[in-house]
Amino acid sequence: MPGRASPRKWIRSRTSSKAPASRSYDAGVTNRGPYMRITSIEPIAVSLPMKKPVIMAGEEVRRADNMLVRIETDTGLVGWGEAASAPVMTGDTLESLVAAVHHLRPALIGRDAADIEGAHVAMDGRMYGNHGAKAALDIALFDLAGKSAGKPVHALLGDKQRGRMPLLGVVGGGDYDGDLKDAAKKKAEGFVAYKIKVGIDTPENDAARTRAICAALGPGMLISADANQGFSTEEALAYVRAVEGCGLDFFEQPVAADDLAAMARIAAATSIAIGADEGIHSRDDIRRHAERQAARGVSLKAIKLGGVRALADAGRLCGDLGMQVNISCKTGESSIACAAALHVATVIPNIGWGLTLTHIGLAADVTAQPLVTGQGHAGSLDRPGLGVDVDESCVRRHRVAIAARELVTPAGAAAY
Ligand SMILES: [Mg+2]
Repeated sequence: MPGRASPRKWIRSRTSSKAPASRSYDAGVTNRGPYMRITSIEPIAVSLPMKKPVIMAGEEVRRADNMLVRIETDTGLVGWGEAASAPVMTGDTLESLVAAVHHLRPALIGRDAADIEGAHVAMDGRMYGNHGAKAALDIALFDLAGKSAGKPVHALLGDKQRGRMPLLGVVGGGDYDGDLKDAAKKKAEGFVAYKIKVGIDTPENDAARTRAICAALGPGMLISADANQGFSTEEALAYVRAVEGCGLDFFEQPVAADDLAAMARIAAATSIAIGADEGIHSRDDIRRHAERQAARGVSLKAIKLGGVRALADAGRLCGDLGMQVNISCKTGESSIACAAALHVATVIPNIGWGLTLTHIGLAADVTAQPLVTGQGHAGSLDRPGLGVDVDESCVRRHRVAIAARELVTPAGAAAY
């Protein structure tokens, strides 16, 4: 965003002689396999069918329009990454994601694939922002680094904190009876954590639906609501007053992402913890929400922060600040991005607000086997790399054409 301090400033500083003490990734030193050079980077736009639409304030996801990235090296190893288009969250469309990867590609071709920090410095030097595209590339490089070193991605990110993680089940159909049915189905499947999409009706109707779902789920569950910026301040205040005491544990992004004053006002008016999602794109954003008492927890996504290491570092910052964390994928991301999120959730200090894996909402995935979940939980992935096998025939089946402008040097020769 204009005026926002670069979230990558600290990475740039690592190229200076005074590298900061950090708990971050050091694959270049201890976790690397044989040297491998990046030889090709291909952005692949896909449109995946959803089992059913997810209805949110400002957005209806009826198909998942995601960009996959396939990176090949001179060792023959291939890494995969992914980022969802998210026009109202990151500003990314499918077309802009693909265009950004085309623009970034010359900065990465020929580089050491295991030097992921160096790749970020190179990408940031060539293009500001565009965290979605950078996240997809970062995930593919981590997949490669893990495969090359024979280690799961989580082992490249830190020490394993847990082997089984509760999934946050999204109840997002937007209608009273359908959502009640969906919540009951998820409870029967073993889910212990839920997110109800609100901000799509009047505060009174959304509150009535929330209260009914909370009553149906009963005590002992983690239940959240997410307005996706859909309420005005007064509407959000009316909503929290109407759901006070019904069992709702936290309420995410009630109002516009940049209105921290309103977030703080709502937080002060209710005992329900307020969370931030669309307002969090950097570690500075997390600090500002904590300082302003605008949120007690955050939803963290790779596409907002620019990759899995940035996601893990943000999670660790939340641990330092005493904030709750939900590690999340964007609606409709496949098992590739979901695996990346799962690796981060395996190593950060707390995931008290659960893990949101959105591939379970897809009617078709791009891996040979969808990432395995069961009884409302996911287990850590302990195979090398991301630990999922992409089925390229599935990728081809769901591929959509995106026109790309070929970059040329001033002399007229192809830039890559
Ligand atoms: Mg959210």
